[in-house]
Amino acid sequence: MALLEVREAGLYCPAGDFHIDPSLPVDRALITHAHSDHASAGSRDYLTASPGGGLLRARLGDDAAIQVEPYGAAIRIGDVNVSFHPAGHILGSSQIRIEHAGEVWVVSGDYKLAPDPTCEPFEPVGCHTFVTESTFGLPIFRWNDAAQTIDEIQQWWLANQQADRASILFAYPIGKAQRILSGLDATAGPLIIHEPVERYNAIYRGQGIALPLPGEATDFARALAVVSPSAQGSQWLRRFGQASTAFASGWMRIRGPRRRRSLDRGFVLSDHADWPALLQAIDQSGAEQVWVTHGYVAPLVRWLTERGKQAVAVELKPPAEEEE
Ligand SMILES: [Zn+2]
Ligand SMILES: [Zn+2]
Repeated sequence: MALLEVREAGLYCPAGDFHIDPSLPVDRALITHAHSDHASAGSRDYLTASPGGGLLRARLGDDAAIQVEPYGAAIRIGDVNVSFHPAGHILGSSQIRIEHAGEVWVVSGDYKLAPDPTCEPFEPVGCHTFVTESTFGLPIFRWNDAAQTIDEIQQWWLANQQADRASILFAYPIGKAQRILSGLDATAGPLIIHEPVERYNAIYRGQGIALPLPGEATDFARALAVVSPSAQGSQWLRRFGQASTAFASGWMRIRGPRRRRSLDRGFVLSDHADWPALLQAIDQSGAEQVWVTHGYVAPLVRWLTERGKQAVAVELKPPAEEEE
């Protein structure tokens, strides 16, 4: 029995009368996490996991009706049992488990299996149907240890200091920036945190995640600036004068994005599962059916089908803006 169907606004559960991560306004929206391609404004009621409530509030504004539930709590909506389980993607990110008449479906949202001190680790949840993202669903995507990549960022900063130039690091302001900041040695200072990033850092600190505070912005030549990608080419960046620029993203694995952004460095750091982790999560779910959405859908569907899995490509309306 299909617990979900695809409607214009996205994934819809008829037995519970709710959408998951709808791209259009609906009555009841269950939100896996606060990234803009999953949390769009205008719905009447929102429900998300407790640790992500603050981020969702920042995204949707003061007027949004947001209810939160702790991870693992059993929630009854219409005829279905619902619960949120950590997805390991960003603070408060969830997989959403739906149970109805003995049938269990899990919607992964975005997820990763790699350790990240800024959010709870991914929890494998058994199900009959697993709805998986596939943002990096190609065998070429394999991540190194995040700790190693963050150390490379630290070394890049130190080398720039010795050459008297600032280090400007572009990182997505929800999730990526905090993951990097939590692993950096900020005493190498000064550390300058772009306001759109610091705004979310404050929410992370409110959830007990230790993050370094921005320093006094005076010695620009020795500074590391952690900056939202939206500031690329902006007036704000001029103050740094001579600077080396870098971007931290899974997309830095392929050459094109880095060249297009004319960056000096690209650090491969993703908050999504790489190819082996996607396969591992699918395997651990025990699901006999897999719905694939969000990214390189066709290659993953083909790979699973060739191995005897029942895999379905699910076309959702492309989000207005991608986080990664
Ligand atoms: Zn996301
Ligand atoms: Zn996403």
